[in-house]
Amino acid sequence: MNQADILIKNGTVLTMDPQRTVIEKGFLCIRGDTLSAVAKGDPHEIRADKTIDAKGGLILPGLINGHTHAAMTLFRGLADDLPLMDWLNHYIFPVESRMDREFVRTGTLLACAEMILSGTTTFCDMYLFEEEVAQAAQAAGMRCLVGEVLYDFPSPNYGPIEQGLKYTESLIRKWQGHPLVSIAVEPHAVYTCSPDLLVRANRLSLQYKVPLIIHVAESASEIEAVKKKYGRKPFEHLESLGVLGPHVIADHCVHLDEAEIQRMVRHDVKVITNPESNMKLASGISPVPRLLAQGITVGLGTDGCASNNNLDLFEEMDTTAKLHKVGAMDPTVLDAFTVLRMATLSGAKALGLADRIGSLEAGKRADVIVLDTHKPHLTPMYNPYSHLVYAAKGSDVTHSVINGKLVMEDRRLLTLDLRDVLRHAEEMSEKVLSWLASPD
Ligand SMILES: [Zn+2]
Repeated sequence: MNQADILIKNGTVLTMDPQRTVIEKGFLCIRGDTLSAVAKGDPHEIRADKTIDAKGGLILPGLINGHTHAAMTLFRGLADDLPLMDWLNHYIFPVESRMDREFVRTGTLLACAEMILSGTTTFCDMYLFEEEVAQAAQAAGMRCLVGEVLYDFPSPNYGPIEQGLKYTESLIRKWQGHPLVSIAVEPHAVYTCSPDLLVRANRLSLQYKVPLIIHVAESASEIEAVKKKYGRKPFEHLESLGVLGPHVIADHCVHLDEAEIQRMVRHDVKVITNPESNMKLASGISPVPRLLAQGITVGLGTDGCASNNNLDLFEEMDTTAKLHKVGAMDPTVLDAFTVLRMATLSGAKALGLADRIGSLEAGKRADVIVLDTHKPHLTPMYNPYSHLVYAAKGSDVTHSVINGKLVMEDRRLLTLDLRDVLRHAEEMSEKVLSWLASPD
């Protein structure tokens, strides 16, 4: 108890534990990768190698971005305000078809820099060349759950789908037991994956006891397409294939009727909601308050940068609360605490990581952020949850510790050379423009 590798002191600790414990003038001790103490008072007896003074600010669990496509940072602002099919066919697909490992590595490092600088310590990714994503996250010192996107058409990474399943299996085997990187099986969506692929992906996920992550019920046109092809709604279709269970993480879940919601409840499906992306692509409003009322675990994600256009979960939390209030025409819907819990403990539960992260409790891994609250937009502070959701910005985060390692100190990234990351991203944008200028 009297020894710590890192001591964080002199702040209000929002533990986000199930009892909603808040410790004023609290401190926490980190030994190795673990929180060894979360307590109140003056830690003068504790000898620490490194002491972080929160200076009266807020200390809370690192935020969890439950769904993104990290490397799409390199498409940010490339084309906005277009109909979905125009955007995909004329911008995204032509570039993605020529994308390579270097592109994904560069874009993911850029995403990691942005995420750490805005208080995110864990992200869940679906994209191509996921080995590069895992490597980039490891280099940045970020925690992640990642998986190679699987669909019926050939991939620029693995080629035919047979190879996609093998590639996924090799990722699972390679990263098993890694302290930061976990792997999931990630079929893209019901409308891009054949029933056979969905069944095989599910088998792989059950065999290795890893999550199965899939976009479900994102747009009204998806529902129509799936109904037309299979005569069933998306969750009904997945249920009929035996592809539902507590290991399934469904992204978006915008267009649901009561029967679909009850299927999700029956199978304990986890949900990640992405309100800003749903707004930008005019997909609709997910019935999140209804899902929560039914006891479904809902985490929060930004989705990729081409449809958001940033990875700042503080902004996402603010939007989440306000969107549902105006959607329901009821300001009591989704209070600030509930939204912050979606970005912390509920996100951890959704990703199957709640035994390790999501709250500040002794014995859990040390994923912690510190916020400076001595700012005009955060003074005075009557209610820290309110400030975090409605007033704070990602740039208010000063320190970040992930798995017991300090990765940002006084807003300086310690694991990445930011100038390097930005220069590579600039170079890559020239490639993107040249690919668009000369489509093959
Ligand atoms: Zn997505």
